[in-house]
Amino acid sequence: LYIDGEIGPGATVALDPGQARYLVAVMRRGEGDPVRLFDDRTGEYLARLGPGGARACTVIVEERLAPREDVPDLWLCASPIQRDNFALIAEKACELGVRRFVPVAMRRSVVRKVNEERLRKRMVEAAEQCGRTALPELAPATDLDRLLRDWPAGRTLFFADELGGTPAPQAFAGHPGPAALLVGPEGGFDDAEREAVRALPAARPIALGPRILRAETAAIAATAVWMATCGD
Ligand code: SAM
Repeated sequence: LYIDGEIGPGATVALDPGQARYLVAVMRRGEGDPVRLFDDRTGEYLARLGPGGARACTVIVEERLAPREDVPDLWLCASPIQRDNFALIAEKACELGVRRFVPVAMRRSVVRKVNEERLRKRMVEAAEQCGRTALPELAPATDLDRLLRDWPAGRTLFFADELGGTPAPQAFAGHPGPAALLVGPEGGFDDAEREAVRALPAARPIALGPRILRAETAAIAATAVWMATCGD
């Protein structure tokens, strides 16, 4: 379970009501039962359930099991998209081990407002279910102009271009090291945006196969291929 705040051996931690309900009512855990916690800062811990039942559930931290996992240096930069699909991208980014998730507004982005709380919640749930001990950093929402203007030196920007580019596995293998993926909105990049991205010296257009993918599929597929090629 994720604990929002640094923990350590000997600490007594109050679980939030959802976590308490899950442990006590769903998992049927009781006082003294073991539970694994992580704080996204110092690592993963073994703790034991204290008294209190589902209403006032506390855990007592016993020992550190592992330091916070080290995730590969990959950012996923993606346009917000409709319905629940942006949260789906955040969830899969967490499962796959992305270090930083960056919402980037583009000219054809239909969705403008990013619900950070919802994204964070989905990432926490994904980490808990997958036994991960690191959450992706959720970067403040930005727009494409600003993203390109402030692009950090030394980080390759793999730009998922529906019009074509180097096949992703080949492009990734040729540029190991700090990287980012950029995926457009439902309507794709407009011509001016495509040109602006291509003008960035760090940008490399990539293709994800011959078919046009939905934005969420493209983001998840590109991340999975990068992890399979360069992640460790
Ligand atoms: N509306 C656009 C069109 O019809 O050409 C398609 C946009 S696509 C639904 C959304 C985003 O997914 C694109 O901007 C791109 O970043 C990515 N994408 C989709 N298919 C891709 C592919 N085969 N190769 C690389 N990127 C792709």
